[in-house]
Amino acid sequence: MTIVEENKVVTVHYTGTLPDSGDTFDTSIDRDPLTFLVGHKNMIPGFERELMGKAVGEKVKFTLSSEDAYGDYNPDGVQKVPVEMFGEITPEVGKTLVSDIGPFTIKEVSDELITVDFNHELAGQSLCFEVEIIEIRDATEEEISHGHAHGPGGHHH
Ligand code: ZN
Repeated sequence: MTIVEENKVVTVHYTGTLPDSGDTFDTSIDRDPLTFLVGHKNMIPGFERELMGKAVGEKVKFTLSSEDAYGDYNPDGVQKVPVEMFGEITPEVGKTLVSDIGPFTIKEVSDELITVDFNHELAGQSLCFEVEIIEIRDATEEEISHGHAHGPGGHHH
């Protein structure tokens, strides 16, 4: 029987919720399922670990601590940067942008300084997931050497 293990390409439907509020922060329901290569750090650590050994059709429900998900909240991730650095972009609170060192969210806007936060929006959070395994196949040599899944059948996208 084919199970989830290293160097398999796995397709799942998933719904992620916050344990405290029950709010859904992400779900693949109503869109295409998620496909990923197992064992190459494409997913948050706990997500893959909980699916290991499972077969097609299995439904799994689990809760991850923040360290198994998006990590602890790092106060040093909050920085003030001069408004000039935004160039032609108008900084707006809540907007997420990508810089050379990664994505960040704008927290506060003043005339001269903009407060930005490089923490992932789910940093410091425990996360609940419900996952259904849709498909499992062997990864191609090319996928393994690239470290990510390609399209259906392993063709490069
Ligand atoms: Zn590739």
